[in-house]
Amino acid sequence: KGEGPFLLEAIGINKRFGGLVAVNDVSFSLAKGEILTLLGPNGAGKSTTFNLLTGVLSLSSGEVRIAGHSVAGASPSQIAGLGVARTFQHVKLVPEMSVLENVALGTHLRGDSGFLRCLLRLDRPQEAQLLAEAARAIRRVGLADRIHSPADSLSLGETRIVEIARAICLAPRVLLLDEPAAGLRKAEKNRLAELLRELRAEGLGILLVEHDMDFVMSLTDRIVVLDFGTRIAAGLPDEIRKNPRVQEAYLGS
Ligand code: ADP
Ligand code: MG
Repeated sequence: KGEGPFLLEAIGINKRFGGLVAVNDVSFSLAKGEILTLLGPNGAGKSTTFNLLTGVLSLSSGEVRIAGHSVAGASPSQIAGLGVARTFQHVKLVPEMSVLENVALGTHLRGDSGFLRCLLRLDRPQEAQLLAEAARAIRRVGLADRIHSPADSLSLGETRIVEIARAICLAPRVLLLDEPAAGLRKAEKNRLAELLRELRAEGLGILLVEHDMDFVMSLTDRIVVLDFGTRIAAGLPDEIRKNPRVQEAYLGS
């Protein structure tokens, strides 16, 4: 099929906002069944990188490849259609809607079907299929007992897991998570980490942006460190922990 070993590749990607270079010639790759973490202080360019990978922002230069194919100029819905799903740094569920409705809605909005279909009314069989897919994803993430609960009755940890259910509904190959552990209690972090390990074992590639070092170290396979938009280090968790440049730029020790 001509597909390389990587699900997702960033090859010398750059993003300039006027005179500011937010992402400066950054390269990395994500394999099947791997968790890769982007680490770096605020303003390092992590969220911008996510937006470049998902087509929300256009590259100033460089290339993004999905399963070996360049996706230059692809829209966010086209990239979602190629199997790249994401969650956002700031959670957006509709508070008065149920978990099931939120997941079904998110799936529909994020599919490769385009915006037009969202404006059209679904027929009964389409609606039934959508709800069945959403229910399957909710069971997959272990939230079956909350499926009819309104979103605003969930804990923050459950909300993050609903976001993941929404993202995995379309059976993606790649999952991008922007600070999924932020604000969670210890038990919630453990539950989230366990879910991510299970998804990895099923072959998903996961790209994580996360500040919580204990959380990251407990599950990541590799780490790429960004500082002022530039990749300053990359390697295994133990190598990164010991890297003096990383300690200076990020770990503050
Ligand atoms: P991180 O997610 O690592 O905290 P960001 O990717 O959000 O960093 O931001 C990287 C840099 O790019 C910051 O200096 C930020 O102010 C700037 N930036 C991000 N988005 C925009 C934008 N839409 N317009 C102008 N500057 C931006
Ligand atoms: Mg960010």
